[in-house]
Amino acid sequence: MTNDLIQLVEFALAGGPKGIRAAGRLMSLMEDSPWRLPELFRAWAQVREQDQSLSEQLPMPRLLLGITGAPGSGKSTLSDALVTAYREKNPDQKIGVIAVDPSSPFTGGAVLGDRVRMMRHATDKGVFIRSLSARGHLGGLTLGVKGVARVMGLIGCDVVIIETVGVGQSEVEVTQVADLVAVVLAPGQGDSIQMLKAGLMEIADLFVINKADREGSGTLYSQLLSSLQLSMDKKADPDVLLVSAVEKTGIDELIALLDKRTEDESANWPALREKRMYADVSESVLDQARMRLAKLLATSPEETKKIIEGSVTVQDVAQKLLEKASRDKVSAN
Ligand code: GDP
Repeated sequence: MTNDLIQLVEFALAGGPKGIRAAGRLMSLMEDSPWRLPELFRAWAQVREQDQSLSEQLPMPRLLLGITGAPGSGKSTLSDALVTAYREKNPDQKIGVIAVDPSSPFTGGAVLGDRVRMMRHATDKGVFIRSLSARGHLGGLTLGVKGVARVMGLIGCDVVIIETVGVGQSEVEVTQVADLVAVVLAPGQGDSIQMLKAGLMEIADLFVINKADREGSGTLYSQLLSSLQLSMDKKADPDVLLVSAVEKTGIDELIALLDKRTEDESANWPALREKRMYADVSESVLDQARMRLAKLLATSPEETKKIIEGSVTVQDVAQKLLEKASRDKVSAN
């Protein structure tokens, strides 16, 4: 591990303009090389050796809130309203937002909406916004989101909002990073209830019906309630709230609900977070191994040919690759 990382952690902890730059670099590192996330834990342990007043574990945000729902339902307007309300309520607490777009190859706030949003909070030093896109593969993206969230925890963010652009399978996967998932619905978004049946119902800890100022929101509210009552496989009574992100009604109630749920449920989160982290780290180790083996296989096409001809088995070649990979590592040292 590089000393750079330790120094970045030290700077990020110290705060100030230098700290903000260091945090930004750490976030980019987690985004570009998600499998390096475990190095953050090691760096933390080393920094802590010099300063025993630091917590034993890398600090986590109090709440990782996932916000998902169809495009246009008002997710980014809602997370914006939440950021503003959280900051007003608690000016000493920092807030992070991670906007995730699994379908886009672009990154770094390339989306116009993100730029607009970043400008809105640009003067607020307590708000950290980061956009992540697929670029690599999805596993890497999910781990990248976790890495960025951990850096946000490191610099003391109280709440981190993880907002996805859509409702596909990839978004569902990304929301599994969150402690609580809010599914946003809005009137005039096609058949929202139908969409719920396509998989969103299972991941929702709470539902937010947005655009309460619009006609049809009341109908949607009652449709959702009755559909939840009918559904047998739902989680225990998810909460349903009616808000208007634009007119900022229901936002304080939403925050109060999130605070209560966090208080009631957060005792279970460290174990859950740990379990997920374990799975992710294993995944990234396997990814690394697979990448190296794939490279080796690509440089010896004759092995594949032999399998096709029937002169060797798949197991033979796999064994050979593993042996070659471990020899290569020895010679690389
Ligand atoms: P996202 O795609 O889910 O992130 O949705 P956006 O936040 O970009 O919002 C989509 C559109 O809905 C924008 O034109 C918003 O101004 C509008 N919108 C968001 N929240 C509300 C609301 O509470 N009421 C009304 N009337 N419009 C809203």
